[in-house]
Amino acid sequence: MFSNKEKFKEVFSKKLEMMCGKRFEESTVRDQYHTLGNMIREYISNNWIQTNEKYRAENNKQVYYLSIEFLLGRLLGSNLINLGIRDVVEEGLKDLGIDLREIEESEADAGLGNGGLGRLAACFLDSLASLNLPGHGCGIRYKHGLFEQKIVDGYQVELPEQWLRNGNVWEVRKADLAVEVNFWGKVEVSQEKGRLTFRHIDAEKVMAVPYDMPVIGYDTKTVNTLRLWSAEPAKMFPIHKNIMQYKRETESISEFLYPDDTHDEGKILRLKQQYFLVAASLGSIVRTYRHKYGHLYDFHKHVAIHVNDTHPVLAIPELMRILLDEEGMSWEDAWHITTNTISYTNHTTLSEALEKWPVYIFQPLLPRIYMIVEEINERFCRDLWERYPGDWKRIEEMAIIAHGLVKMAHLAIAGSYSVNGVAKIHTDILKHREMKLFYEFFPEKFNNKTNGITHRRWLLKANPELSRLITNAIGDEWIKQPEKLLDLKPYAYDVSFKQNLAAIKQKRKKMLAQRIYEQTGVVVDESSIFDVQVKRLHAYKRQLLNVLHIMYLYNRLKEESSFSIYPRTFIFGAKASPGYYYAKKIIKLINSLAEKVNNDRQTNEQLKVIFLENYRVSLAEEIFPAADVSEQISTASKEASGTGNMKFMMNGAVTLGTLDGANIEILELVGEENIFIFGMTADEVISYYQNGGYHAYEYYHHDKRIKQVVDQLVNGFFPNVYDHFEPIYDSLLTQNDQYFVLRDFAAYVEAQEKVEKAYQQRDKWLEMSAINIAHSGHFSSDRTIREYANDIWNIKPISWE
Ligand SMILES: *Cc1c(COP(=O)(O)O)cnc(C)c1O
Repeated sequence: MFSNKEKFKEVFSKKLEMMCGKRFEESTVRDQYHTLGNMIREYISNNWIQTNEKYRAENNKQVYYLSIEFLLGRLLGSNLINLGIRDVVEEGLKDLGIDLREIEESEADAGLGNGGLGRLAACFLDSLASLNLPGHGCGIRYKHGLFEQKIVDGYQVELPEQWLRNGNVWEVRKADLAVEVNFWGKVEVSQEKGRLTFRHIDAEKVMAVPYDMPVIGYDTKTVNTLRLWSAEPAKMFPIHKNIMQYKRETESISEFLYPDDTHDEGKILRLKQQYFLVAASLGSIVRTYRHKYGHLYDFHKHVAIHVNDTHPVLAIPELMRILLDEEGMSWEDAWHITTNTISYTNHTTLSEALEKWPVYIFQPLLPRIYMIVEEINERFCRDLWERYPGDWKRIEEMAIIAHGLVKMAHLAIAGSYSVNGVAKIHTDILKHREMKLFYEFFPEKFNNKTNGITHRRWLLKANPELSRLITNAIGDEWIKQPEKLLDLKPYAYDVSFKQNLAAIKQKRKKMLAQRIYEQTGVVVDESSIFDVQVKRLHAYKRQLLNVLHIMYLYNRLKEESSFSIYPRTFIFGAKASPGYYYAKKIIKLINSLAEKVNNDRQTNEQLKVIFLENYRVSLAEEIFPAADVSEQISTASKEASGTGNMKFMMNGAVTLGTLDGANIEILELVGEENIFIFGMTADEVISYYQNGGYHAYEYYHHDKRIKQVVDQLVNGFFPNVYDHFEPIYDSLLTQNDQYFVLRDFAAYVEAQEKVEKAYQQRDKWLEMSAINIAHSGHFSSDRTIREYANDIWNIKPISWE
């Protein structure tokens, strides 16, 4: 049906009338989307079935990637591209008077994630399928994804997100594959044939119903599966409970994604979600496995289970439970299998983000799982004691359960065979600082896998013009082998290539300017520097540093008649966690600054500030191609990797960043002449934390520029926000500026001046841009996934020969 335009048109219009029950002429965009989505599903169904048959028939090892978040974004466009049928469809629809882009834009983003961690999971799925690797995603089918952000009067307002409002064409409900998950109740211990047996009784049962989504590889028959679990009441309602309450409580498990990616909210519901994901996924993995192999003694030889951060770490005790209680294995056998099955990625060293569950919550909710965790802890502490006899302090620090808390990262390390960080510096910090004691005990488990992004979505789909330019220059091999982008390097010195590169950037800036106008009513100068910071709002990401610098520029423009700058448009996009008071203040601050600056006729030809609301994957796809400058200015040591930095680079933006996360690896690749690096090193930051010696007040008193902008937070510079920014002011002075904003201010100003100069040397700038694109292939998630496949999971591609 997609073999040629005419055939497509015929099938499409017939199908639409059949599915929607109306004449083609009367169809809406939604009807057209729905029809096209269904055609694609039908088209791939055979490959999906064949892929699954292959997995069932062959004894190849498979990996299951467990993640509490999958930030997929829209799927229509990327599916069309991966299937190689986008052009046929676009042309066919055009003949029918339909704009494919309009259909694509009618699709809701699947926003089942907060930010980088969830988007990483989505990029990994695309790479697994495109590399023909047997890898499946397991997640939760939240009814509401990450909240929709509205900006009202400069403040963030959160609305419930409704991605399922018009149904989801990509999913298939598989009610017959439901898995029962047990909560509460108690454990009955008895002796049977000289062996203790454990029965979880009086449990409250929840039905986990899988919804499968196809993950379509690029230019291959492989169609993998993302299985998302939905919580429904079990057939047997609990007798002692009000049924309405039971139904509500059950359904609430898969109702909302937690809109919080650092703080542990300490809610029972969150732990319920975690166990729900794990028990449902393992239940189904083991069922499939038993079907094929019978016993589970070789489980680890055929199955790898990866836990994305600590949220799914209960996979460790859950697998132990299955092996011990259901299979009747000995502890030693079960532990051997478990610790050779599970691998774990650490995503952060921020201590407030490390999950710890109070025993008083954990134990009653998951009584059998808690017993197993206790046993794991006891044995682990015994091993530690043997190695470090008498070193109570060390054992206390490393214990899995201590002071009434279950430490999920400790459980993850003890119960897995691989622990990886997500960028070189992050892994080093894990090994030598944050998880030092664990590294000493288990050095062989630790390894680095620098993050990546799928170049298919972030370049091929998001920036078709640039993709064409690249292909015209070096051929299209880069699409399957992104490292080949390196062949572009000579073109960094090619005049006509650079002219085309400039024209494409200009076109995308124009398109983004149009979007900005539609959303904010502000007209921006399309020839100004588009300087962009888009990411979750966090103190450590230092949107505040960016803001203070803009205030400083504004002050100079106002005060010094001889001072001028190359026109600049500062663009922000960021969601703040609803309970993150400080982050919300920063959003208001950005909007207050935008209002002030954009309406000042004395400066607004040189300076504009834009806050684009509801930052999400689809908006990101419009922003990266239009960016000149990529702001990656986190406090060194705090950003584990960052992936936004890679998307910008791939689209030809030049990084202005600190020596943090993957910025360091970008620097290594492009060289210091093609990036703007400033500020403290991670060692300096850590040394201040350890030894003290930082006094924010000194920077405030000794740098007039700093004093002025900091004072302006509270002195009426922003009208009508009486004392609103005092908390920000206090964070910088009273609380001694934990993230070293003032300390890095001068270096940042200087780096920004270099950016401004470099941008005006057009030829040099385009050269930098091209060199960044050329080196971005290294950050394709294909490279990352190959490393995981070879070094951690030990899985091999399937062959379609
Ligand atoms: C890539 C991405 C992120 C992560 O951005 P960082 O700059 O690495 O924090 C967050 N949200 C969305 C929508 C993304 O696409």
